[in-house]
Amino acid sequence: MTVEFRDGQTVAYSPPAHTGDPRYKACADHHTACDCREAWLNEEINEYRSGHDRYHRAIREILADHDPFDDDMQPRCRCTGCQILQRVYQIEELEARSKAKAKAQPRPEDGWPF
Ligand SMILES: [Zn+2]
Ligand SMILES: [Zn+2]
Repeated sequence: MTVEFRDGQTVAYSPPAHTGDPRYKACADHHTACDCREAWLNEEINEYRSGHDRYHRAIREILADHDPFDDDMQPRCRCTGCQILQRVYQIEELEARSKAKAKAQPRPEDGWPF
C-alpha cells in the first residue's frame, strides 16, 4: 500500500500484520498509526475475525437441519438456536428503522427513537 501525505509526497508502506512483527518491538516514537499501533490493531482485527468465524461455523453446524424463518421472514422453528437467529434479525431491523428515523429527524435531544 502507498501512504500519501498532504504535500503530495508518497511512501510505500505495509503495516505490520501482528505483534510478532519485529517492527512492533522496534517501534519507539509512538505516534498516530505508528507500527506498534498498526500491529495491535491488525492482531485485534484478526482475533475478532477468527472468533466471529468460529461462532458462525458453530451456528451453521448446529442449525443445519433447522428452518428459523418462513418465506415471509417470520419465525418458524422455536428452538433456542433459531430464536437467537430470529432475535438477531429483529435487532437488525430495529437498528435499520431507528437509523432511518434518525436521518429523517436529526434531533437527538428528542430522546430515544422508539
Ligand atoms: Zn509505536
Ligand atoms: Zn431450530
